[in-house]
Amino acid sequence: MGSELWWDEQMTDWQAEAGKYFFNSNKRLPITLVEGLGTVVVDDNGKQYLDFFGGPAVTSLGHSHPVVVQAIAEQASKLLYYSNAVYTVPQIQLAKLLIENSCLDRVYFCNSGTEAIEGAIKLARKFGKERKDGAYEIICADNAFHGRTLTAVTAGGTARYKEPFGPLPPGFVHVPFNDIDAIKQATSDDTLAVMLEPVQGEGGVWVADEAYMQDVRAWCDENGLLLILDEVQTGIGRCGALFAYELYGIEPDVTTLAKGLGSGVPIGAFMAKEHVNVFTPGDHGSTYGGNPLCTNVAYNVVKYALESDLPAQVARKGEYLTQRLRGLHDRHSVITDVRGKGLLQAVQFDSDIAEAVNLACLERGLIANNVRPNALRLAPPLTVSDEELDKAVEIIETVIRQL
Ligand SMILES: *Cc1c(COP(=O)(O)O)cnc(C)c1O
Repeated sequence: MGSELWWDEQMTDWQAEAGKYFFNSNKRLPITLVEGLGTVVVDDNGKQYLDFFGGPAVTSLGHSHPVVVQAIAEQASKLLYYSNAVYTVPQIQLAKLLIENSCLDRVYFCNSGTEAIEGAIKLARKFGKERKDGAYEIICADNAFHGRTLTAVTAGGTARYKEPFGPLPPGFVHVPFNDIDAIKQATSDDTLAVMLEPVQGEGGVWVADEAYMQDVRAWCDENGLLLILDEVQTGIGRCGALFAYELYGIEPDVTTLAKGLGSGVPIGAFMAKEHVNVFTPGDHGSTYGGNPLCTNVAYNVVKYALESDLPAQVARKGEYLTQRLRGLHDRHSVITDVRGKGLLQAVQFDSDIAEAVNLACLERGLIANNVRPNALRLAPPLTVSDEELDKAVEIIETVIRQL
């Protein structure tokens, strides 16, 4: 890091430029990042930040990890692209690795979390038509987040993300999270599946209770419903196990992955058990999905995570972070709750100060995320050090003291 300027020096006020060209659809932090290494990112003024956001939760091995950089370089010079019209080696290697290390039997690779959800829903719908008397309805949770296509926002539980875009696709019902009775009451002859996040990430880091997940699994078994777990944010070690479902002692029928899978390259996947293997040629496709570049990176990310026992390290670091945050909770009454699993955590405030806290943290060199008006999310790289965890907690404490 710290190399000389590599951009056009005539154009320096990047944020003013951006305002002229983009749709105003993203709320961005007022920084322009140009470099990253490990947990640290650097802006266009050379200021360094600890990155406890990661995009969110994408850069699982941190920024520019040598494993990722090497996988990109090697594959780019070997075979950068081909589609699913042929077989390519990295895609097969990644598939084998994911299947051998999960309870799932089949996988399809795509380019994002939303696409993974879309694919999982298509797979489930076809299963419903062929194996469940045409059942099509999916029970989803309030406050859930499943992505931004029309179907994904419909499955999601945030009204603001879908209401401007109607008419919305039918077949989704919503119930409160962590409430098994609500799922039971919502179940009808049309019900095909229950779809949940083990931890609602975008919704504010709300963790599914263990008993709830086990009850949902049992209810799905009794009624022949598919359990779809959206692990786009929780998967690939983030919560202290390769898949968060492992922490609940249950197995989903279908699951989705994306964010941490490529540690920064765009890739998603949906996976299913053999009994849901209903796709036949022509049912699904993707021009870029499963391309050699991204699958080679993901293969090396997952291999590295497994070989270095990263999920277990995340469990330990997560407990350490929780303990440090609980200390803040004890010392500062503005903090009303600390919650999460592994390295996906949130600090809850007694009022809507999360944005102010986040901006003050930014000033002091920490990128966190005001995931809700009253909650700050922390999702550092899985490779974060204890010293970096300490540093981040110290910055948050300094900021809270000054409020
Ligand atoms: C981010 C996210 C998605 C959407 O992923 P994109 O890559 O942004 O399309 C879906 N589900 C969950 C749980 C997510 O956190």
